[in-house]
Amino acid sequence: MRNTITTDIAYCQELLQNNELVAIPTETVYGLAANIFNDTAVRKIFEMKGRPMFNPLIVHIHHLDQLSSLAKSVPEAATKLAARFWPGPLTLILEKNALVSDLVTAGKSTVAIRMPNHPLTLQLLQGLDFPVAAPSANPFTRVSSTSAQHVADYFGNRIPAILDGGPCMVGLESTIVGFDGEAAVVYRKGGIALKAIEACVGQVSLLTKNEDAPQAPGMLAKHYSPGTKLILSDDVLKTIEGFTSQKVGVLAFYESNFANASIVETLSEKQDLDEAAQKLFAALHRLDQAGLDVIIAQRFPNEGLGISINDRLERAGN
Ligand code: AMP
Ligand code: MG
Repeated sequence: MRNTITTDIAYCQELLQNNELVAIPTETVYGLAANIFNDTAVRKIFEMKGRPMFNPLIVHIHHLDQLSSLAKSVPEAATKLAARFWPGPLTLILEKNALVSDLVTAGKSTVAIRMPNHPLTLQLLQGLDFPVAAPSANPFTRVSSTSAQHVADYFGNRIPAILDGGPCMVGLESTIVGFDGEAAVVYRKGGIALKAIEACVGQVSLLTKNEDAPQAPGMLAKHYSPGTKLILSDDVLKTIEGFTSQKVGVLAFYESNFANASIVETLSEKQDLDEAAQKLFAALHRLDQAGLDVIIAQRFPNEGLGISINDRLERAGN
């Protein structure tokens, strides 16, 4: 039998053409991909993840020419953002055209589109005559996968193939931007900092939380969660005091010395928020497998990708 983890792009293309699922590497996190024009294939994504059908999927393209077959219209601000950030960790929400099925968009009139920045996946997509839908390759509400092994740990050989592109270089899901006319609205904080979006299109608004009718599941309160209880803390040493007789793991920005912690995962000794983002999910996977009673995560500086990291940790703690 073939290994599930592979670098054979032609084999992965063949599987996708046959309406099977393939896990794909991207710069954000690994995705669980299927042909967007085949509803049977797309349904397999929802089944594999245990993802509710009201959660729309992100469509992955490799060339700007593909936009016209997917979106009815493209606001000028979207064109600017695509020119600046694609391929890259930015998803645009655009009015969908009729070719895109309601299954992909969960019945919405809009479709989420992104061009991922990973050489293997771009090569894979170039050889297909359809884009793929690909949400993060993890069971619903769980921590995203940033390596082929994370995907294998979750799904084993239930996925026909996992294309191994190494560890994800950004490590956080894409920043999702929608449009109210020409005005950009951020639906989900992610791999591109808000400041960088604003430097491109001017001030943006943030979509406010509405848990009853989430516009984007990235907005659901519980998401990105390890199986172990996680507490986001402004003062880790103080929080640890409440757990003296328990096995505690700490997720820290740059410090590594926490008395009474069994394990400390330090994300960036040089205090680089991009490096911390890249290492975040792998550290959460390790902490989750360490048999801890509780994970205490330090709140990150509220700037750059620190804003997106805090967003993930807040939801992981719910
Ligand atoms: P995931 O790839 O699992 O991180 O999830 C994809 C994200 O894209 C979710 O947060 C979706 O809600 C969001 N998304 C996809 N399509 C749309 C859409 N049409 N409108 C708003 N959000 C969307
Ligand atoms: Mg996800």
